[in-house]
Amino acid sequence: MDTDAKFRSPEAYELARLALEQLEHQRVWPTPLNYELWSQVISEPDGPLAQEIERLRVAGEALTDDLAERLASTYLPKARLSEQIRDTGQALSRELASAEQVIRTAQESSESFSSRLEETSRTLENDPTGPALQDAVANLADATLQMRAQNASFERALAASTSEVAVLREQLETIRKEAATDTLTRLANRRAFDEAIERCRAEAIETGRGFCLALLDIDHFKKFNDIWGHQTGDQVLKYVASAILKHAPPPRFAARFGGEEFAIIAAGETLSATAPLVERILRDVSAANVRRRSTNDNLGIITLSAGIAAYRPGDTVHSLIERADASLYQAKRDGRNRLVVDNDLG
Ligand code: GH3
Ligand code: MG
Ligand code: MG
Repeated sequence: MDTDAKFRSPEAYELARLALEQLEHQRVWPTPLNYELWSQVISEPDGPLAQEIERLRVAGEALTDDLAERLASTYLPKARLSEQIRDTGQALSRELASAEQVIRTAQESSESFSSRLEETSRTLENDPTGPALQDAVANLADATLQMRAQNASFERALAASTSEVAVLREQLETIRKEAATDTLTRLANRRAFDEAIERCRAEAIETGRGFCLALLDIDHFKKFNDIWGHQTGDQVLKYVASAILKHAPPPRFAARFGGEEFAIIAAGETLSATAPLVERILRDVSAANVRRRSTNDNLGIITLSAGIAAYRPGDTVHSLIERADASLYQAKRDGRNRLVVDNDLG
């Protein structure tokens, strides 16, 4: 593959040297993850990761392991994930090949048992007398013992293989879930949201079952980050996500839609059923001052603005999101900390 060739080329040494030099220069621990991040920065100095790291550096943010994980999951997701999937996939094929080999050997051994049976029966047909009969019985007893021992060993090999395949299947399931989850808030991520809303739309077309989309956005979050720092901002994102999940647990579908924006899909529900639920989230989040866990600093009240729209026949995912977004921005214009329902827009 091209990438392999690139990483074995002389430029690879240069890249590695530069990455380590920068880590040292910026006093960042050379953990494998940080090394991976800085390699990406060097290969794309004007890319989004480089810009985000520069922004964090200017803001004086310390690069904790958590922050590095968040950066990696946002800016290096596909490569890391596909690597894990490839490794697990390779392990699965190795296991399946070895199970196949066990089955093939078992088949061969059962064929050889059958041919010994046939051979003995032919001998007996030709000479069914005392000594031949004794030989035949001894021969069969021996073959049966051998067969039994082999069967036991096949069973052990297959059992080991089966449990290994079960472990690998579980690993794949974990990777699959991880690929659909936002690492910071543990809500569904944007990719999972895109799939879910497309599924809802397809179902609406097929069965006529409607659905609603709510978009929720934290008010003045940039200012909050500026005052309290990005890491405290991250804690607020988790706090808001947990309030959303509390009021909209499955079968509703709650996702992190973007930076400080969240989405809820309520399948089979109308605007009048979804609006009170979103109102409860807004009330709950803004009900009390938020405090920083480590210092107990009072961070004030966090508020959200929200917009909801219902699927209409003929909607694309894009047109539905646009209407929910227009309602959300109306809520911002109306003074924030409120919900605007699409139907109410003139
Ligand atoms: P508005 O009320 O109009 O929504 O104002 P706002 O400041 O919330 O909106 P704006 O779009 O100007 O800024 C969004 C901010 O959200 C800027 C960005 O730093 C912050 N943000 C986005 N993603 C994250 C994140 O993962 N963690 C933290 N801490 N902040 C984030
Ligand atoms: Mg926003
Ligand atoms: Mg905002």
